[in-house]
Amino acid sequence: MRPRQHPSYYIDGLRAGDRLVLSRAITLVESQLPADQTLAQAVLEGVLPHLPQTSVRVGITGVPGVGKSTFIEAFGKHLTGLGKQLAVLTIDPTSQRSGGSILGDKTRMETLSMDPLAYIRPSPAGDSLGGVAYRTRETMLLCEAAGFDLILIETVGVGQSETLVHGMVDFFLLLMLAGAGDELQGMKRGIMELADALAITKADGDNIPAANRARLEYQNALHLFPPTDTGWQPPVVSCSALNNTGIAELWTMIETHQTLMNEPAPDGSSAWLRHRQQQALDWFRSLLRQRIEQQFFARPDIANSLAHVEKQVVDGTLLPTLAVDQLMPRFR
Ligand code: GDP
Repeated sequence: MRPRQHPSYYIDGLRAGDRLVLSRAITLVESQLPADQTLAQAVLEGVLPHLPQTSVRVGITGVPGVGKSTFIEAFGKHLTGLGKQLAVLTIDPTSQRSGGSILGDKTRMETLSMDPLAYIRPSPAGDSLGGVAYRTRETMLLCEAAGFDLILIETVGVGQSETLVHGMVDFFLLLMLAGAGDELQGMKRGIMELADALAITKADGDNIPAANRARLEYQNALHLFPPTDTGWQPPVVSCSALNNTGIAELWTMIETHQTLMNEPAPDGSSAWLRHRQQQALDWFRSLLRQRIEQQFFARPDIANSLAHVEKQVVDGTLLPTLAVDQLMPRFR
């Protein structure tokens, strides 16, 4: 067996913080080949006991043009300046559909990508959004195994991907533009409900009054949401990546949130731990559902009768509930 076909090549390399091995391990996790997937699972299993329990996972989202990459560059430089080992993972759900990519990864975050303490990796376009997020989660674990104590996951706020990212981070930051209309910039109110903080971007020059107005408006809007069980009220702040203002304060805010989440409960647990445990459980359940669904549709007898049953449903001669009752007994 060649060394790169053996889990220990990856496990040892990751534990030594070898970036080349990290990149190769991520490629392995992203591969669709069954042999690669088996190896990837063995690698993940091997690193799991050694993962640091002190990593901070932050999700960052916002519509295209809000200033995500400029913000992450400034924020990232601040973090590496504090000596943090930073991994930035970007998810662009549009890259497959449009053939191009909203994020256009090549030219983004140029300064940060030269920083020896930073590691930037785009998630490739996937066959399904769930699949992309699934690999991002494993990629995050690999980065942690390689010693990155801070993970930023960037996603374009145009769809479902925010919910998936929210399910894998400790802190979810929503970037917003001032004066971009009441439509909440095409985002559903649901995304605001997921946010642990809102940051109004580009609060510099002539834009400052508008940013201040937007901050108050969003602050009022957020007050309508109930506080979380830890009592955290999502703050609304403004920042400028261009002038480097509000950037350090945002990190201080995330640290305050972490401290609050880590406060020990009487039973020895913490909100942080319960949150991560719930995320692990949700991940497991979603994988299980995915597997059951795949197996259901892969059954030849089900595949054969599906078209017929669906036609009856469309024609109105069979109730959907009865159609399910007809198919389910075959799934044993
Ligand atoms: P993304 O699509 O969300 O990643 O946004 P970008 O980071 O590419 O930024 C979109 C545009 O906004 C670019 O032209 C940036 O130069 C500009 N921009 C980003 N951050 C700031 C900022 O803090 N202040 C100002 N004035 N412009 C900014």
